[in-house]
Amino acid sequence: MEDFVVVGSGCTGAMAAATLIEGGGGARVLMLDAGERDDRYAGILPSGDFVSVRTTDREQYRYFLGEDFEGVPWGKVGTGAQLTPPRRHLVRKVPELLPLESDSFFPLESLAYGGLGAGWGLGCCAYSDAELRAAGLPPEAMRAAYQWVADRIGISGERDDAAQYTIAHLERVLPPIEMDANAAHLHASYLRRRRRVHAAGFRMGRTALALLTRAVGERGAYAYRDMDFYDDRGQSAYRPWMTVDELRKRENFLYRNNVLVTRFEEMPDAVRVHGIDTAAGEAVSHVCRRLVLAPGVLGSARIVVRSFDRKPELPILCNPYCYLACIQPALLGAPARGRRVGFSQLSLFHDPTGSNFDVAMASIYSYRSLMLFRIVREAPIALSDAYPIMRYLAPALTLVGIHHPDARGGRRSLRLEPCAASPTADVLRADFSLSEDAERKLRDRERRFTRVMRSLGAYRIRRVDPGHGSSIHYAGTLPFDSGDSGDKPFTLRPGGRLSGSARVYVADGSGFRYLPAKGVTLSLMANARLTALSALRDA
Ligand SMILES: Cc1cc2nc3c(=O)[nH]c(=O)nc-3n(C[C@H](O)[C@H](O)[C@H](O)COP(=O)(O)OP(=O)(O)OC[C@H]3O[C@@H](n4cnc5c(N)ncnc54)[C@H](O)[C@@H]3O)c2cc1C
Repeated sequence: MEDFVVVGSGCTGAMAAATLIEGGGGARVLMLDAGERDDRYAGILPSGDFVSVRTTDREQYRYFLGEDFEGVPWGKVGTGAQLTPPRRHLVRKVPELLPLESDSFFPLESLAYGGLGAGWGLGCCAYSDAELRAAGLPPEAMRAAYQWVADRIGISGERDDAAQYTIAHLERVLPPIEMDANAAHLHASYLRRRRRVHAAGFRMGRTALALLTRAVGERGAYAYRDMDFYDDRGQSAYRPWMTVDELRKRENFLYRNNVLVTRFEEMPDAVRVHGIDTAAGEAVSHVCRRLVLAPGVLGSARIVVRSFDRKPELPILCNPYCYLACIQPALLGAPARGRRVGFSQLSLFHDPTGSNFDVAMASIYSYRSLMLFRIVREAPIALSDAYPIMRYLAPALTLVGIHHPDARGGRRSLRLEPCAASPTADVLRADFSLSEDAERKLRDRERRFTRVMRSLGAYRIRRVDPGHGSSIHYAGTLPFDSGDSGDKPFTLRPGGRLSGSARVYVADGSGFRYLPAKGVTLSLMANARLTALSALRDA
């Protein structure tokens, strides 16, 4: 019997497992994971940067367009438009094994080794104390956990106007990456108009990233190739599988992939975890003293609901999201010299009350690599004409992805219903809408973002709304309940233990009662550490 079973190898599973292994006095940990990998493109991506690959590699169509043309977006822009062919394994088998039906909510889930973190954009933000309290998270313990995570994954950033929303709590960060010409132009414009931008309730600064700007151990410093959404060469970008690869060198850690965990059964002194071996199609089970679930908040909802007779409606939190495509006319036709960066380099925060609560956040991108095929295809002209026009436009294009805080009101619910056609005999139905008041507030904020970008010399040419779920920031399916009136079913106790259970913990974002607009993943990882520490204390 294992001391702990951890379900999932994503950002939260990796941090929970590392905490259990390093603080557990030799405790035996088994990680059960679906564990899909890229077995198609990993070996064929060249080492050059985007421009050299475009001009020299005759095989480039294989990874840019995809061997099955999966990199060509045929339909409307929706959730996961960022996933390039080498990242499509993130969502492999999800429609069959994690069926979800909805006409209003389109989330991205992953069954990959490393989960969604195998392709995340690395943006790191620490929540303010007010946000932590609203989410049901303990501020002091979270601050210590933020630093533990930052030391482990490596975060680069700047102590500038945006730091209060990103890295202010962290004592140790690496220097930021160098900005490319597009970001530097916008940033210079901000510094010139800083006072007016502040008066409008906005602050701009460098995006804090889980990206090394200096070599650490076997991971190299960032190499400015603008291939960030295609490969992990040099491992400067943090991916959770790096932590799991490290743990797999330990004798007391065991990793098993091709397992879809379906439910658990709690016994007086142990937990039996049930699942399906997805390669053999057979039922499997493992017994452990304590179970730590980290399959993502929709995954935890499925596993917990299946483990009880009652099938309740559960809540879900998600940040509303849209993109603004902008042009900086001063950069039109600028020579394509210079390095480009795929990750967000600047962030713009809207905090009109200055309270660091109810803040909206925009991540600003200028990558060439990802925009290439999508924007050329969307231009209302023949492809042969679109290419020369794109060469002129590309240096000036700036993408602004706006995340809004989750708003109360409207309808946000999940329900697990029987479905004979699914391998787990069920399907998750989701319903998501905002109240009219929340919709109005969102539009008003987006107009303010548009105005402030215009004042900085970046003109909006298009707004794209990929639909609810496209922020890829989810939480709150089993919310923390701090009430003293006993164990409320389908909630978590502070520390992450499932209410009514003695041995089951949920280490992903299921417990969060509020979802700030700031990138959720640093907080997910810090909370996963706190959950694992509380499981160790109870053991
Ligand atoms: C393109 C992209 C860009 C992003 N950019 C950012 C960003 O800049 N900043 C930010 O904060 N966030 C970002 N995110 C979101 C971030 O990736 C997620 O918040 C985070 O990875 C969630 O981690 P998790 O561990 O909770 O879940 P997941 O990543 O979903 O991991 C779930 C794990 O559990 C396993 N699993 C699931 N179900 C089962 C099951 N039943 N049985 C066994 N195993 C199972 C999966 O294989 C996987 O290993 C981005 C996401 C994407 C896709």
